[in-house]
Amino acid sequence: MSDWFEDGLRFSCTQCGNCCTGLPGAVWFTQEEGMAMAKKLGITIDHFYKRFARKIGTRWSLTENVIAGKYDCVFLDRETEKPSCKLYGARPSQCRTWPFWPENLRSEASWLRAKHKTPCLGMDTGRLIPASEIHLTLNSKRI
Ligand code: SF4
Repeated sequence: MSDWFEDGLRFSCTQCGNCCTGLPGAVWFTQEEGMAMAKKLGITIDHFYKRFARKIGTRWSLTENVIAGKYDCVFLDRETEKPSCKLYGARPSQCRTWPFWPENLRSEASWLRAKHKTPCLGMDTGRLIPASEIHLTLNSKRI
């Protein structure tokens, strides 16, 4: 069976920052990703977990800052001209692979729902990403 997105999907991030804020959520990361983030921050892994992480069930998520009723990822930087990630080079795969998540790619309706709910201003605009690249991104999501 062919993918509904076999002709590719358009996506170019506009740096609106909407995927890093909104309703309460989780930014899952693996132990390896936690170590990479701690290293980027120049702190110990223990310090990183104490200060920036919380356990939900059996998994770890980054914490959030509530700003004007919105739940910002703890590493969302609003001091820059456009919202940016303080850990961009070491961000977890959940962030690297957005919006090509299994739940968003289930159907065109799921894709549109994610686009409008976030709202992600980069979905369906900009570069045409071929289906092969979408699959690579999808498969690189760690958690
Ligand atoms: S919501 Fe979309 S356009 Fe906005 S920062 Fe996130 S990926 Fe980029």
